[in-house]
Amino acid sequence: MTDKEQYEALSYKRKNVYETLTEDERSQMNALCGDYRDFLNRAKTERECVELSVKLAEEAGFRPLEEAAELKAGDKVYILNRGKNIMLAVIGTEDIENGINLCGAHIDSPRLDLKQNPIYESCGMALLKTHYYGGIKKYQWTAIPLALHGVVFTRGGERITLNIGEGEDDPVFTITDLLPHLAKDQMSKRMTDGVEAESLNVLFAGEPLNADVSDKVKFAVLKLLNERYGLKEIDFQNAEIEIVPAFKAKNVGIDESFIGAYGQDDRVCAYTTLRGILDAEQPKKTAAALLVDKEEIGSCGNTGMLSAFFAMTMAEIIEKIKGSCSVTAYNRVIRNSACLSSDVSAAVDPNYESAFERNNSTFAGCGMCVMKYTGARGKSGSSDAGAEFMYEVEKIMDDNGVVWQSGELGKVDQGGGGTIAQYVANLNMEVVDCGVPVLSMHAPFEVTAKTDVYMAYRAYKAFYKDR
Ligand code: MN
Ligand code: MN
Repeated sequence: MTDKEQYEALSYKRKNVYETLTEDERSQMNALCGDYRDFLNRAKTERECVELSVKLAEEAGFRPLEEAAELKAGDKVYILNRGKNIMLAVIGTEDIENGINLCGAHIDSPRLDLKQNPIYESCGMALLKTHYYGGIKKYQWTAIPLALHGVVFTRGGERITLNIGEGEDDPVFTITDLLPHLAKDQMSKRMTDGVEAESLNVLFAGEPLNADVSDKVKFAVLKLLNERYGLKEIDFQNAEIEIVPAFKAKNVGIDESFIGAYGQDDRVCAYTTLRGILDAEQPKKTAAALLVDKEEIGSCGNTGMLSAFFAMTMAEIIEKIKGSCSVTAYNRVIRNSACLSSDVSAAVDPNYESAFERNNSTFAGCGMCVMKYTGARGKSGSSDAGAEFMYEVEKIMDDNGVVWQSGELGKVDQGGGGTIAQYVANLNMEVVDCGVPVLSMHAPFEVTAKTDVYMAYRAYKAFYKDR
């Protein structure tokens, strides 16, 4: 062996997925990514993600958990939580007390929510007040086409589902920005202050009603909303309405090697996790997929990872398999379980390389990312996976031809972030973050490499099969 060969044999080098792909794998990847783009276009909110997941699950033979009196190996079930959170499971052949294999992703994404009293008139226009959700750079949300998705109840109790701005002939909405000619004051501000939260008001209407009232455009809008949907202004007090980018998912690059779309954090992991369980063959250990809400605001609330929903569902599954679920049996199941926290990482951005430390960051196109820890500063707010579990996961990836890379969010002390991993770890099971590197994370148009999407799908599937 030459020194060069020996060095290559001993040292670690990141691989580009394309170096390893067969023609067959390439066509599987393109088919998966086509389905994924379709999923992104049809599911831009957590509610829409849950609805579409149910549809796909039922097509794959999954049934509601409440309809099953008992559960046995091979049974496929799903359970919903308030329309915004779903768990799916395929019952394994082994005793469930040996633990389950869980993949957990989040289906909420940064966006603008309408405030509870949103409609007002100014300068002859009707506008909507918003309150941003999750970590956004506010300036990115101005001067782009926006769509309106949500749910509202009329005083009569009718549930109205709104989805405006997605159809080819639908109108869209937008948040106006100041012309550069007059932006001297704005442009000299810090970027965090250049666009203020209270300036993120959505342009909603402009035609006044010729009537003897002060707000003629607002009056026209209220009449229109009443005629079209039976709504009164007070009904917005109960509404959950989300403003999201109106554009569709697209292939990016002359070679179409990337996907650009809104909401890929974390629908890229949610979709690949979902496909992983829908395509799972009879597993030894019970396989479960959990799609949670509210990750972007701290995993709180009754549909977030901190909700008791997961524990309650596990107890019900155990009871339907074993006839009863003692606290001890539940504890044994959880202690022996393991989770891939399916969430995205930041891909090194060639325009902002100085924010990253190259040895320990992830690169778009170099495979699924395994993050031992996230957090900020001295790993604060992180679940730091143990060496034993890291090895177990890496071995499964290697054995199944999954191209993977490790990484952390960026340079130490440059910022940071968290995932659901720490809350899963608190239940007392093994967990590590595994997902897809993303460029322009949290922007209205996020970018992933198709090869990484494909490897994430293969990783989740391999985890269900082999652990
Ligand atoms: Mn995320
Ligand atoms: Mn995020």
